[in-house]
Amino acid sequence: MRLLIPFLASEANVASAREYGAEVLNYHDVLNLISVAGRVVGAVCKDLIHGEIVEIHSDIVINAAGAWAGKIASTANLSLQILPGKGTMLAINHRILNTVVNRCKLPTDGDIIVPIHTVAVIGTTDVQVPDPDHFAIEPWKCA
Ligand SMILES: Cc1cc2nc3c(=O)[nH]c(=O)nc-3n(C[C@H](O)[C@H](O)[C@H](O)COP(=O)(O)OP(=O)(O)OC[C@H]3O[C@@H](n4cnc5c(N)ncnc54)[C@H](O)[C@@H]3O)c2cc1C
Repeated sequence: MRLLIPFLASEANVASAREYGAEVLNYHDVLNLISVAGRVVGAVCKDLIHGEIVEIHSDIVINAAGAWAGKIASTANLSLQILPGKGTMLAINHRILNTVVNRCKLPTDGDIIVPIHTVAVIGTTDVQVPDPDHFAIEPWKCA
C-alpha cells in the first residue's frame, strides 16, 4: 500500500483539478514553450496517442518536468541549470528496519534506506549525467 501513495496523491490532484474545471491531457509531450514579448504564455504539445499537435495557452505556465525542465526551458531560450543524476538502488532480501531512514543533505551517494514489504531498498548512488534520456548502465550495476 505504501508504494501506491505517490500515485494516489497524483490521482487526487488530478481529480481535484477536474472538479475545478481543468482539462487534463495525459500522453501529451511538450515540444516547445510559446513565448510572447519575453513571457511564456503556453506550450505546443504532441498528443502521443493520436499524433495531433495541440497548442495550450495560459496565464501561468509551470514547468514541472523534473530532470527535463532545462530542456523544456531552452525551447523558450530560457536558461535553467538542471543537474540530472543517475542512480542505482540495492534491494536486499530482508527487512532490516521498520521505518525509512533518510539523511537530509545535498544529493550524493547513499542517503536512504526504505523498508518495502519483506525487503529493504538502499540507495541511491548519484552520478551526474549530461542528458536524462541517454546514459550508460555499467555492467557491474546489474549484478
Ligand atoms: C527509483 C527511484 C526511487 C526514488 N525514491 C524516492 C523516495 O523514496 N523518496 C523521495 O523523496 N524521492 C525518491 N526519488 C526521487 C523522486 O522520485 C524525484 O525527486 C521526484 O520524482 C522529482 O519530482 P519532479 O516532479 O520534479 O519530477 P518527475 O517526477 O521526474 O516528473 C517530471 C515529469 O515530467 C515529464 N516530462 C518530461 N519531459 C516532458 C515533456 N517534454 N513533455 C511532457 N512531460 C514531460 C516526465 O515524464 C515526468 O512525468 C526516487 C527516484 C527514483 C528514480
